[in-house]
Amino acid sequence: MKINWLKVPQWGNDTSLLHGFMGRQGGKSVGAYAGLNVSYRVGDDAKIVSQNVCDMKLAVGIHDGRIVTMRQVHGDCLIEVKDTHLKEAGEADGMATREQNTFLGVLTADCVPMLFLAREQRIVAVVHAGWRGTLKGIAGKTVKFFLENYGVLPSELEVALGPSIDSCCYEIGRDVAQPLIEQWAELATSSIETRDNKGYLHLRNLNETILHRAGIPQSQIFRVGPCTSCAKDEFFSYRREKKETGRQISFIGWQSA
Ligand SMILES: [Zn+2]
Repeated sequence: MKINWLKVPQWGNDTSLLHGFMGRQGGKSVGAYAGLNVSYRVGDDAKIVSQNVCDMKLAVGIHDGRIVTMRQVHGDCLIEVKDTHLKEAGEADGMATREQNTFLGVLTADCVPMLFLAREQRIVAVVHAGWRGTLKGIAGKTVKFFLENYGVLPSELEVALGPSIDSCCYEIGRDVAQPLIEQWAELATSSIETRDNKGYLHLRNLNETILHRAGIPQSQIFRVGPCTSCAKDEFFSYRREKKETGRQISFIGWQSA
C-alpha cells in the first residue's frame, strides 16, 4: 500500500523545505501496528520499525539527512537540536533546530502534532500536545521559545496542526475538563462540546486558539487532515484501538541544495 503523506498546501512553494504528516498506510508492520509504525516504544519489532523509517525517508525524499525524534512524556519541555548526528534528542515534547538536513519528527496517535516554521530565519520546530501538554501550554511556550532563543516574532511564525482526535470522538471526564477550564477559561469552554451530558474535547481547536492568543495571525495557522479516530484506515488512534497501536510521524526540516 502506498504511504499517505499530507502536506500544508501553503508551504509547497519552497522545494528545500520538506515537511509532512504521515499516516499508517504503507510500511511493513503487522497486527496492531500495521503498517507504517515508526515507534520503537510500543512493542513492535525493532527491525521492522527501522525498515518503516527507511521506507518513509525514501518516500518523502530525505536522502542524506537524519530524522531526530524525542522521548515524549506529555510535558512542556522544549529543546534545541544542534547535534545533527542524534537519532533521539532526549526527553521533551518540543524541539527546534536551525540545522539543515536535520528533520525533526514527532510521533502521535491522537495527540496533536504541530509543525512550526520561521520561514525567513529558516528555523523549524515540532511539538507534541495531548490534553496534558495543552493544559501546560506547550504551544504558547513554543512561540515564546522562538522569541527568546531566536528573536522570531509571533507574527513571523507559521504553524500547522496535523491529524489528531477531534471532538467527534474525544470524550473527556471532569478530571480533564475542569483543569483545562481553570487554565484556559473561555478558550477551553469553546473547545469542549456537550452531547448527552458528556463532554467532548476538540484538542486542535483549543491549541489553535492558544496559538492565536500567543500572537500568531489566524491566517498563519493551518489545520491539516482528519480526526485520527474517524479515519480508521489512514491513521493510528490510541483511543480507538484501546491503547495497543502504532504511532505515525510528522516531520519538518530544511534540505540543503
Ligand atoms: Zn472523530
